[in-house]
Amino acid sequence: MEAKQYVEEIQKKIHENDRGQVEYLQAVDEFLPTVEVFLKENPAFVESNILGVLIEPERILQFRVPWQDDQGNWQVNRGYRVQYNSAIGPYKGGLRFHPSVNLSVMKFLAFEQIFKNSLTGLPIGGGKGGSDFDPKGKSDAEVMRFCQSFMTELQKHIGPSTDVPAGDIGVGAREIGYLYGMYKRLRNYDAGVLTGKPLGYWGSEARTEATGYGCVYFVKHLLNDLNDSFKGKKVVVSGSGNVSIYAMEKAKELGASVLTCSDSNGFIYDPNGIDVELVKELKEKNRERISKYVETHSDATYYDGQSVWDFEVAYDIALPCATQNEINEKQAEILVKNGGKIVAEGANMPCTLDAVEVLDKAGVLYCPGKAANAGGVAVSALEMSQNSERLSWSFEKVDGMLDDIMKNIYETCRDTANKYDAANNFVLGANIAGFEKVARAMLSQGLV
Ligand code: GLU
Repeated sequence: MEAKQYVEEIQKKIHENDRGQVEYLQAVDEFLPTVEVFLKENPAFVESNILGVLIEPERILQFRVPWQDDQGNWQVNRGYRVQYNSAIGPYKGGLRFHPSVNLSVMKFLAFEQIFKNSLTGLPIGGGKGGSDFDPKGKSDAEVMRFCQSFMTELQKHIGPSTDVPAGDIGVGAREIGYLYGMYKRLRNYDAGVLTGKPLGYWGSEARTEATGYGCVYFVKHLLNDLNDSFKGKKVVVSGSGNVSIYAMEKAKELGASVLTCSDSNGFIYDPNGIDVELVKELKEKNRERISKYVETHSDATYYDGQSVWDFEVAYDIALPCATQNEINEKQAEILVKNGGKIVAEGANMPCTLDAVEVLDKAGVLYCPGKAANAGGVAVSALEMSQNSERLSWSFEKVDGMLDDIMKNIYETCRDTANKYDAANNFVLGANIAGFEKVARAMLSQGLV
């Protein structure tokens, strides 16, 4: 069968089977058409029905998570773990606690994670999990009871060499601590079952910074190719969580001026450059809303209920670091008008497919999340290595390795795109390179 027809058939079938799973189908629709050129050159993979097999998650777990709130009422949430692909290593990927979590969101994230993890060059398969539990507004005790209940079920399905969860939106050091503590009580086994652990017990230096720093390193290497740098660049960032904070910190350190950041209520524009230390204090320490920023910074403006992507201001680089589908077609047009030349995704799938099309047409260099935000999971894999050898490496060592990994991911995306006559198409480059490694592993293991 022709590669084109094969891809179309797979796409049609997945749309029929998973109707209504909007985010998941979006991720699949972004991926499938880009690997057609590879399959054309490698018909053996078409013959072995690689896509038909790969597209089916190896295992999906859904479970009930009952927990008691501070008033003594029983609450219940849904828990998930999607173990999508283990061809190149144990399932690896974060846990997301957010009310928007559903099966479609879990599957899109796990699907992207397969190729992201493959691109890191480290032996990690793709998985993702989480719950529709909302940690916002909950007491520490409620979060603890929820995490303990969640882990009571999850522990049956994970392990240091089978499936290694970590953090994502709504899951930071506090949650990982509670989850890890419960795993240890239930299994009497330690260390490498979760990553993103606090530094005092088995955590890795630079893991907190890794996703944000990594995203900026990716762009740094891209700029370097253009004989350019972050110096003097104006950067617009969305979000104010873990990814956003460290993307802002590194961009500033490299000489850029960061103009904005946001949370789900609104955004801050600070013409003097965002005060990252203050954002850290507000968000990481006090769990406050970003609107508080303007109380101490009178030059800054808070735009309540508005998206940073509707804002008209001149800039060079956009780093969407909030969540999926935060930039739509219209907002991509605004981004182009604002002068944006590079978009690098700190979040997973923050641009809709229509938005990406607008960026492509305008010649904006678009760096998809599965490449640009792979630094977090890459350092997670380094945390696994450190846990295995019962050692911890210095910040400088891990940060240096992260920079090297991001350089390698950038070059792989660039070179793969060039190889298929699609210069600057980093989506195609990331998808084919990530896919090829997994596909070859599946073939050699007799899985297709
Ligand atoms: N949640 C992060 C991601 O989207 C990191 C996952 C991990 O460290 O395992 O890649």
